[in-house]
Amino acid sequence: MVEETPILEFSQVALSFGDAEVLKKIDLALEAGKFYTLLGPSGSGKSTILKLISGQLQADSGKIYFEGKVINDVPAEKRRVNTVFQNYSLFPNMNVYDNVAFGPRLKKLPEGEIKEKVKEMLALVKLAGFEKREITELSGGQQQRVAIARALANDPEVLLLDEPLSALDYKLRKDMQQELRNIQKRLGITFVFVTHDQEEALAMSDWIFVMNDGLIQQNGTPEDIYDEPINHFVADFIGETN
Ligand code: ADP
Ligand code: MG
Repeated sequence: MVEETPILEFSQVALSFGDAEVLKKIDLALEAGKFYTLLGPSGSGKSTILKLISGQLQADSGKIYFEGKVINDVPAEKRRVNTVFQNYSLFPNMNVYDNVAFGPRLKKLPEGEIKEKVKEMLALVKLAGFEKREITELSGGQQQRVAIARALANDPEVLLLDEPLSALDYKLRKDMQQELRNIQKRLGITFVFVTHDQEEALAMSDWIFVMNDGLIQQNGTPEDIYDEPINHFVADFIGETN
């Protein structure tokens, strides 16, 4: 059997801020087209991993590979990766259309093509017809949908989602969990989703990395992690209820 090259791979990746070792020689490998989750308490290093994937941060040591090639020195704008943040980070002074069109315009696509792309992306996040709406008129949930459409309009191969649902209320969060999963399946791209909510991770993921204190404590399917936690930390963390 031929092993496929992982879309993303970390080999012994470490990063410190001053004396604080935030990531301690992390190894991980992601297959294309799956829904991955980084699960762990606040401060465990989840966002740092996303920033290393997107190129916002540089590793002190170790190698990061994208489709088999080392990308440690590839600038962020040249990586086929986009991020959705908890606080949406939309341009509040632009309408929905201009927000979603932002990436395609940077690529200087013809405006007709951009219009099609925006339409397609808004339909995907169930905001068809919202082009002319102002960001400030939208609910939090709608703003997060626009942020997802804006990120996906760049045609990323990997979408990073940093606690994208944490600011939403319970019912909306449940709906969005299902929708994000559907979007990932529909597009067939790789998602790396970050959450501190074990229930969310178990419900959404093909594969979970449980993190604590700059280390991956365990990785496996939701079933593996739920049924056979490898140590006390994982057992306690998965067993907690919110
Ligand atoms: P998580 O996303 O899991 O909450 P982070 O990856 O944001 O964790 O942070 C991991 C650790 O690194 C935390 O202890 C945090 O305080 C520290 N940290 C993150 N960014 C910086 C920074 N720019 N300077 C100093 N410390 C940082
Ligand atoms: Mg974080």
